[in-house]
Amino acid sequence: MGESGDADGSAAELWEEVAALQAKIRDLEDAIRSRPGDGADEGGGSAAQGAVARGRMPGTVQTVKDDSVIVDINPHQRVTQPTDDVSARLEPGVQVAVTDSGGIADVFDDAAVDASVRAMEVSDSPDVTYDDVGGLEDELSVVEEVVQFPLTRPELFDEVGVDPPSGVLLSGPTGTGKTLLGKAVANHSDATFLRLSGSEIISKWVGESANRVRQLFELADVRSPSVIFIDEIDALAGERSATDSPGESEVQRATNQLLSEMDGFMERRDVQVMAATNRPNVLDPAVTRPGRFDRTVEVGVPDRDARRDIFEIHTRSMTVADDVRHAELAAATASATGAEIKGACTQAGINAIRDGRTTVRHADFEAAIEELGL
Ligand code: ATP
Repeated sequence: MGESGDADGSAAELWEEVAALQAKIRDLEDAIRSRPGDGADEGGGSAAQGAVARGRMPGTVQTVKDDSVIVDINPHQRVTQPTDDVSARLEPGVQVAVTDSGGIADVFDDAAVDASVRAMEVSDSPDVTYDDVGGLEDELSVVEEVVQFPLTRPELFDEVGVDPPSGVLLSGPTGTGKTLLGKAVANHSDATFLRLSGSEIISKWVGESANRVRQLFELADVRSPSVIFIDEIDALAGERSATDSPGESEVQRATNQLLSEMDGFMERRDVQVMAATNRPNVLDPAVTRPGRFDRTVEVGVPDRDARRDIFEIHTRSMTVADDVRHAELAAATASATGAEIKGACTQAGINAIRDGRTTVRHADFEAAIEELGL
């Protein structure tokens, strides 16, 4: 306990230092951009400006050779020449903060920071588009209005004089496309997507879970515009229990941190918070109160038309025979989720390979549906 307490303390100090330095860098970048004649001021410069404003990315040192370092910034790698003040601390496996130009801005050798950054899925702009989402048209248009518009057209809300909802809760069975929706809206908003699940946030080390929540919001701030996506929010913010075991109070501390971060970010349009759950009934009412996750979008199991669309989406990149009838496959898979349909497409491909073919036939899909019990 004593050891983990020390580690938390130094992690918190490091993150505070990082945040202070990042704030200073952003001020300097703003000053540079506002200089007359600067290239970033020219029309159409928003992509460059956005890239600069995004700040640091978490990365892991892969190789150190002579004066060069290869850093893994999922999904890419960068080769960089570190400055003297950080080079002595670099070794394979160490976590670093990387600037947009590939420089190493800071080194985190604290295990607590390492673990929480690694547990987080951070993607500059996911490659999922609205065309990759089958069905869910109504859900998509709500998410577009309440998540995408505040990020891309914040002036609309000012002009009309209303505040956008502060958080959007996606509720529905597993595998129905909730995460997919989150990624698609981040992409269409040209925003960083940061995903962490409630069960990943809850750590067995007391104090660490609340830290993880704080780090998630800090990173979202640094990488703004951004979409925070908290999966399995019920693991984090389930209804408060009367029991006072250390585990319970740890969850409660993390929930409190989440609520206070959301309050702090309420005025911000460039950081949007989404969460997903398949157990909405166990959520702490404080989480769904106005000003927190005050908009719920139900994401249900796809109907027949949606299932046909999902089959079409997942067969787009497959080599399929002319005899494949998507509508019939949709009719044969009543109550299947999007994830199950994707699984059936993969299995159909495997069936074709098993039969020595590279073209997937209707019968391969039928066999897959049967094999998977859909
Ligand atoms: P969980 O609650 O388990 O996190 P989820 O609702 O977030 O599930 P996703 O992770 O979005 O589900 O879906 C898993 C995969 O299933 C997606 O990556 C996608 O390939 C496929 N899928 C699910 N729903 C759809 C859909 N509506 N359209 C197209 N593909 C889908």
